Amino acid sequence: MEEKDLKISIAHLYPKLLNLYGDIGNIITLKKRCEWRGITVEFEDINIGDKISEHDIYFIGGGQDKQQEEVADELYRQKDFLTEERDKNSVFLGICGGYQLMGHYYQPHDKERLNGISLMDAYTVAGNTRFIGNVTVKTDFTNPNTLVGFENHSGLTFLQGETKPLGRVEIGNGNNGKDKTEGGQYKNVFGTYLHGSFLPKNPHFADYLIELALEKRYGEKIVLSKLNDKLEQDTHLSLIGKSY
Ligand code: GLN
Repeated sequence: MEEKDLKISIAHLYPKLLNLYGDIGNIITLKKRCEWRGITVEFEDINIGDKISEHDIYFIGGGQDKQQEEVADELYRQKDFLTEERDKNSVFLGICGGYQLMGHYYQPHDKERLNGISLMDAYTVAGNTRFIGNVTVKTDFTNPNTLVGFENHSGLTFLQGETKPLGRVEIGNGNNGKDKTEGGQYKNVFGTYLHGSFLPKNPHFADYLIELALEKRYGEKIVLSKLNDKLEQDTHLSLIGKSY
C-alpha cells in the first residue's frame, strides 16, 4: 500500500490534565510524521467524562500527583476496554505520570494509593528524592540505539514479570535510580519517564510506534519512507551523554 492510502487514528488521553513540560509535543510529532508522508490522521482528545473509543495509538502525558488523582478513576473505569485494546496490539505511549498509571498502582506519599490499569506488570511508589535532569538510555531494539530526554519525578517504578525496560540508563536515574532501567514495555505498550518532549528528540522511536500502529491496523508490516531528520537527529546526538 502507498503511504497516501494509509490512515491512522490517535487518541490523546486527558490532555487538559496530563500535559506536563509540553508532553503534547509527542502528539504533534506523531501527527506531523504521518502527515509529512501523506498518511491520513484521525485524531481525538479524550477528556474527563468522555468514553474512550477505539484507536490505533493512545497517548497519555505526565502530571503532578493531583492531576494523576483526577485521571486515575476515569482510566480505571475503562480498564477492561483498554486491556482489550492492548491485547489487539494497539499502541500505547505513557510519559511519567501517565506511564505510572499504566502499571498496577502509584502509591504517593501520605495519600491513598492510585489504581493503575495494569497494561504492564509494574508498580510505582513515591520516593524521597526528586530526580531532575537529562537522561540518556541505551536500547537494544531501536536504530540508533539511544533515547534521550528530561526527567522530573519522585516516583520509583519497578518492572515485574514479562515487562521489559526500554533500555539501560547511561546518564540520569530512569525508573528508580537503583536498577539502571528506564521505561517499560509489554506488547505494544510503552512507558517512559522522558519528557522534553520525548518523541521530537527521538524521531526513530516515533516512527517505530507509527509502524507498530500501522501493522496493527492493516495486519502487515509497513516500513515508513525516510524523512529528512537532520535537525531532529542532530538534536538527539547533541543530548547524548549530557547530564545538565
Ligand atoms: N507525580 C509523579 C511523580 O512525581 C509524576 C510526575 C510527572 O509526570 N513528571 O513521580
